[in-house]
Amino acid sequence: MTSEAKRRYDALPHPQVVVVGGGFAGLELIKRLEGAPYKVLLLDKHNHHCFQPLLYQVATASLSADSIAHPFRRTVAPMPNVAFRMARVLSVKPQEKRVVTDHGEFAYDILVLATGSTTNFFGNAQLEREAMQLKSIGQALDIRSDFLQDFEAALYAQDEAGQRRCLNFTIVGGGPTGVELAGALAEIRRTVLKREYRELDSDRMQIWLVDSNDRVLKNFSEQASAHALAYLQDMGVNVKFGARVTGYDGDVVTFQDGSTMDSNTLIWAAGVKGVTLPGLEAAEVPKANRYHVDRFNQLQGVPEVFALGDVALMAEGKWERGHPQVATAAIQQARLLADNLNRRAKGGAMRPFTYTDKGSMATIGRYKAVVDVGRLHWGGFVAWLLWMFVHLMALVGYRNRLQVLAAWAWKYLSWKNTIRLIIRPYIRRSAQQVVEVPQG
Ligand SMILES: Cc1cc2nc3c(=O)[nH]c(=O)nc-3n(C[C@H](O)[C@H](O)[C@H](O)COP(=O)(O)OP(=O)(O)OC[C@H]3O[C@@H](n4cnc5c(N)ncnc54)[C@H](O)[C@@H]3O)c2cc1C
Repeated sequence: MTSEAKRRYDALPHPQVVVVGGGFAGLELIKRLEGAPYKVLLLDKHNHHCFQPLLYQVATASLSADSIAHPFRRTVAPMPNVAFRMARVLSVKPQEKRVVTDHGEFAYDILVLATGSTTNFFGNAQLEREAMQLKSIGQALDIRSDFLQDFEAALYAQDEAGQRRCLNFTIVGGGPTGVELAGALAEIRRTVLKREYRELDSDRMQIWLVDSNDRVLKNFSEQASAHALAYLQDMGVNVKFGARVTGYDGDVVTFQDGSTMDSNTLIWAAGVKGVTLPGLEAAEVPKANRYHVDRFNQLQGVPEVFALGDVALMAEGKWERGHPQVATAAIQQARLLADNLNRRAKGGAMRPFTYTDKGSMATIGRYKAVVDVGRLHWGGFVAWLLWMFVHLMALVGYRNRLQVLAAWAWKYLSWKNTIRLIIRPYIRRSAQQVVEVPQG
């Protein structure tokens, strides 16, 4: 904003809407409030929106980080009634109608919480410290550096056992993230490791996908789960069902039954929990880490505070325990809230939310995917094309779409994952030294 644009923004006579979080929900909301009789302020701890469904491709060297991210400033630049501040919201003071951030406090008339979710380690501090996770671009880049460093380290291992230790990857959680990551790593073994690390026997790289259930993609149809399992096994992924991971010290995975397994890398994709903020505890659903909202996405008992997306729990129709924590639910809720705020501004009544389930999809390596839409199911190449089209269209910004299309075309025609520079080496938590800083 130029100083003139800022002066005009500050002078707007409209109610102040503060939106916390520019993920799928927050971004959709601010876009739809452009030109509305509201003064909108977007706060996010990052300066960019992240397209999380393609994070695993950044982690596995298929896409560059900037092709799935979009700077907020570019989005809000043409919107006179919308401003952005990079700030981490620390708490909310609902009585005073203010949010507290690491850069001071901001007042609101209407507050919208769209803070999303974070990895859920279910209280296991050791797993939280040692496991890798995939919720942000930084974490995706860590995974990428880690597996490339492991490949290089394997070349220095003294014996076969040492090489196997470097090349043993465990992914916990057989949901879409775990399945997609496992498939992509299996593809890397078949292409990068086999062709470019000729001194290594690629069979020494083992990928384990561990789940406490008895099937992968448990929220998909049984047909989709069966197809996904067959694709994974065909690609040489070891799938371990009925196994609950209880510990990981950086080298050894421990299971609930007491058994153990060596693994140099463990990626935790076994659950998420909502990102809630201090000050609004009364509106939280116990244990769920989500805000209990009504059909208008309003927090129960907290005036003029709304929650959207992963952090909102709305009991509606068959979704008694809340909607699935997916992008489509976040976007649909944001669209209706924008519509409702506009109706309210004109003195109209708000409309209640009803979720339209548009189906689920996951891809497993090259040319294979599973898609469920209602009772319809597709697998294989057709599903993969559908998966590519939907993800391409959902990306924010034409530049990103073109960049991803070009990267995929190159990758699928040349069989090469090219983005493999170790620029920011990943240092495992267990290997990090705690440096005592002398006082005074
Ligand atoms: C690896 C992965 C793959 C996925 N694949 C799919 C898929 O294929 N299809 C699908 O539909 N869904 C998928 N999802 C789920 C989907 O990404 C989420 O449901 C969706 O992002 C939720 O949107 P949201 O707006 O609620 O939160 P998010 O998109 O997570 O956005 C939250 C925003 O809030 C910001 N924020 C959080 N806390 C603070 C704070 N204290 N202060 C300031 N800013 C804050 C964050 O920086 C972020 O920008 C996937 C998720 C992951 C992690």
